[in-house]
Amino acid sequence: MKIVRFFSDGGPRYGLVKGEEIKEIQGNVFGEYRVTRKTYQLATVKPLAPCLPSKIVAIGLNYRDHAEEVKKALPEEPMIFMKPPTAVIGPEEAIIYPRMSKRVDYEAELGVVIGRTAKNVPEERALDYVLGYTCFNDVTARDLQAKDGQFARSKGFDTFAPMGPWIATGVDPRAVAVRSYLNGELRQNGNTKNLIFSVPFLVSFISRVMTLLPGDVIATGTPAGIGPMQPGDVIEIEVEGIGRLRNTVISE
Ligand code: MG
Repeated sequence: MKIVRFFSDGGPRYGLVKGEEIKEIQGNVFGEYRVTRKTYQLATVKPLAPCLPSKIVAIGLNYRDHAEEVKKALPEEPMIFMKPPTAVIGPEEAIIYPRMSKRVDYEAELGVVIGRTAKNVPEERALDYVLGYTCFNDVTARDLQAKDGQFARSKGFDTFAPMGPWIATGVDPRAVAVRSYLNGELRQNGNTKNLIFSVPFLVSFISRVMTLLPGDVIATGTPAGIGPMQPGDVIEIEVEGIGRLRNTVISE
């Protein structure tokens, strides 16, 4: 099932994607809802970020190949950081290249969308708290990340959390391809089978730190092949079984 959030007829709406059509949903996608008979053409509506997270919890260094690439030892436990909800943008929206930075990178990631409130969740039941998955771009001002030591600035600029194009349910997160394309050229081609910490482990681990709320997003880390973007570039994040998220880059 693909749950899409879109703008049409004066407001944001949710629907299920069926081929080229959307069937509108009424109710709460994180609770009770029903699928109506009202349909829209996918190509004619404005897609929106699939949810409005209260927080985005991201993982640094969670792929063995990326740890090698940046010459870091494998972490013993997940290194978590946060991106603010104000950084979220949807498909086709522009990533703004900030004046403060001279190096802005893409990071293709599998995004986990929490479906129900999770606190102290055991790993064996962690996936019961997941609604589905989305493509996530953990946009990073690499120069400021190195300079600050903290990630709030380098990962937190407005527009630095593109997500979408929808929430896909029924995806098995244990072995899906995670790719990025810069101006149509393949740049990252990883697979979640190389994750150091699995999705259930991460949901459980984070839920023992902070309560995860419906709509919160976990960005699970990026595989090898990170690199810079420039204003004018088109960056696409593709996750197997979900789809492709496309954004452009513009200067501030
Ligand atoms: Mg990342």
